[in-house]
Amino acid sequence: MNEIAVSDSAMTFREAVSGCPAPEAVLAALCLVNVSYYGFDGRLHGGQLLVHSSVERDIHEIFSLIREARFPLRSVIPIARYDWSDEASMAANNSSAFNYRFIAGTRRLSRHASGLAVDFNPFQNPVVYENGAILPPGALYRPEAPGALTESSPVVQAFLRLGWRWGGLFLHIRDYHHFEKQT
Ligand SMILES: [Zn+2]
Repeated sequence: MNEIAVSDSAMTFREAVSGCPAPEAVLAALCLVNVSYYGFDGRLHGGQLLVHSSVERDIHEIFSLIREARFPLRSVIPIARYDWSDEASMAANNSSAFNYRFIAGTRRLSRHASGLAVDFNPFQNPVVYENGAILPPGALYRPEAPGALTESSPVVQAFLRLGWRWGGLFLHIRDYHHFEKQT
């Protein structure tokens, strides 16, 4: 593999879970995966994803495809860097996985709360609600834009093949940046 030009994240596991209110058993099931990808700047970046240990192999497979296809990612930094704020991470167009949080607008724990969901480039791939509201604010879904996901994109196809669901195919909310592992 080529030399990493830009390091976006080089945390220890302890740093990546620091300040997280999740029970110890939840944290013990996680692992911190070092990933590399091309940025929108065309340079090879190094980042980290905090995921459930059972999907580590999937993540490595997806990221080799992401590199091969030169699918650009803005950054891949554990959400501890954003004080566990999904809004702040999305506003920075950051891609991330584990976050001990509820599904927006509900009291149900998200798949992110067990490290079994991943979000990519929320600015290119926003959430679009039935009433037309879009998150993060100011984002626009343009399927042809670099870093945008569509059903035919190799990244989406690879996730589906590995048994993940893509939020772009959800019935009501279109959650274009979201993937979750079915267990
Ligand atoms: Zn998500």
